[in-house]
Amino acid sequence: MRISIENNKYLLELHKYGIANNVPIIQDEGLDELLNLIDKIKPKKILEIGTAIGYSAIVMALNSEALIDTIERNEKMYNLAISNVNSINLNDRIRIFKADALNIDTNLLSNDYDLIFIDAAKAQYKRFFLKFGELLKKDGYIFTDNLSFHGYVEKYNDGSLTGVSKDLRALVRKINNYNVWLKDYDAFDTIFINRGDGIAISRKK
Ligand code: SAM
Repeated sequence: MRISIENNKYLLELHKYGIANNVPIIQDEGLDELLNLIDKIKPKKILEIGTAIGYSAIVMALNSEALIDTIERNEKMYNLAISNVNSINLNDRIRIFKADALNIDTNLLSNDYDLIFIDAAKAQYKRFFLKFGELLKKDGYIFTDNLSFHGYVEKYNDGSLTGVSKDLRALVRKINNYNVWLKDYDAFDTIFINRGDGIAISRKK
């Protein structure tokens, strides 16, 4: 049986904390797809980019036997994640790195991940993908979420994205560019899933 906010008090509290404090934790549908993938591939090692309070890392750990490395650059989030992972006694399964993922020395990490979950700054998805894809095993997977970005990407493509700030439009354009690039990126086979906020699952060839 899957361990979730439905049957685990600790996860429910973490989830509530995230919502109440505007921490952008993974949405339920995205999480469901991520856990479906974990059930299917039974990863031994997972790398997550973007820990926040540790919610998704903890859910992944509770629903697998994987060792999880996760990277967070924000000090407050990092400290909260450390404390949450310690409270649930998962510090032997989850290693949290306080770093900007774009600058982290990859020698500190493993080089044989089975799964990478990219969940940090959306404008940098392609850079994360290329940098950390190097640490993925052949036939390993990269999971990216929020590719529809609340439907803005579809609006951008059909020309109906109007009345939004320049910054938001620039971000939507970057996410769209990532989608276009990923679809044709030859080193991986990618499927796009139109669920939640838009998901891509990419398998390394
Ligand atoms: N994965 C978490 C979950 O579902 O529980 C949510 C992560 S939240 C969407 C994104 C996090 O990525 C934020 O806490 C942010 O500080 C962090 N972040 C953004 N850019 C980053 C970077 N370049 N390096 C490390 N962390 C980053």
